[in-house]
Amino acid sequence: MTKIRTVEPFVVSHELEREFYFSQWKYDTRSICLVKITCDDGTFGWGEGYGPAQVIKSGIEFFRPLLIGYNPLEIESLWQMMYLRSLDYARRGILLSALSAIDVALWDLRGKILGQPVSVLLGGRRRKSVRTYATGMYFTETESLSERLAQEALGYKEQGFDAMKMKVGLNIEKDIENVQTVRQAIGSDIDLMIDANHAYSLPEAIKLAQAVESSQISWFEEPVSPEYYSSYSQLRQTTSIPIAGGECEYLRWGFLNLFQQQCVDIAQPDICAAGGITEVKRIADMANTFGVDLVPHTWGTGIALSAALHLTANIDMPGSRLNNAEALMELDRTENPLRDELVQPTFSPHNGRLQVPDKPGLGVNVDEDALTRYLLK
Ligand SMILES: [Mg+2]
Repeated sequence: MTKIRTVEPFVVSHELEREFYFSQWKYDTRSICLVKITCDDGTFGWGEGYGPAQVIKSGIEFFRPLLIGYNPLEIESLWQMMYLRSLDYARRGILLSALSAIDVALWDLRGKILGQPVSVLLGGRRRKSVRTYATGMYFTETESLSERLAQEALGYKEQGFDAMKMKVGLNIEKDIENVQTVRQAIGSDIDLMIDANHAYSLPEAIKLAQAVESSQISWFEEPVSPEYYSSYSQLRQTTSIPIAGGECEYLRWGFLNLFQQQCVDIAQPDICAAGGITEVKRIADMANTFGVDLVPHTWGTGIALSAALHLTANIDMPGSRLNNAEALMELDRTENPLRDELVQPTFSPHNGRLQVPDKPGLGVNVDEDALTRYLLK
């Protein structure tokens, strides 16, 4: 049996032509840490971590000695080794993004070794394509922000999306104006979600939720700090808008907190941070046990997108009926050549849907020329 020979992290970076911001900070550069795991027969798999890229790179280097010489198919054993090696100081956070990147690469390898797509190896495809929603509508320094957001929303509608997400968290009055302007522009037959990136206190979140209920909001994401579990559950009692969260949550125990305290209607683990495909499959099973929807958070290259696509193709939704309940995943539409040029094939939605790749593993490959071009020197 082939064995793991090398584990190589790569940090890629791109300075944006137009910076944008959300409630927490400004983006002027996109940087991502990828990992390539190669076996002694030359087979390789790609993974990716979500979060500060240089720190994830150090995390991957920390885990590397645990992996060399092992059978790449023994993913849960390797996962457990990394988990136990980091448990004392990393029950949340960036070291788990490094573990997640490695786990995603091991799943890609597993698929290539066994000649099967990841979604099949997860237990099967419930669906051959997945509905996506467009993530965009960030803040920019614009004179008429609400009009600019409405134009962007109309663009997504014209591209065929029937679901999209906009940022809130500037201040309540401005948020209300932006949401109402966007809703008016796109009409009533489009799902519109709002994301505060935990900008608000509980009273502020309640006020905003009540003010935008009439704008037909499909979910309110990260209304309050991810530390305030009871604020999440209290907010849920005050509004008919479904509450979403979980992109800052890690491991099945973090999500158990969200579920037991009835914080969310929609759980949003990031596969490249919360513990990889291995752990998010467990989280998806737990979400289903609690009757909570799962819509993965994604913010990266085609590797992260493919991982989310395979998992979303596989998961059972809590709704049970003859026509399998629709699953949904996030599709970032902001400027990002690391997403569009680094990984082949590029994920281009048709009528807002993405086909689940058929090729073995994740079904994507990194363009080595593009990797050299974007590699942080
Ligand atoms: Mg978010």
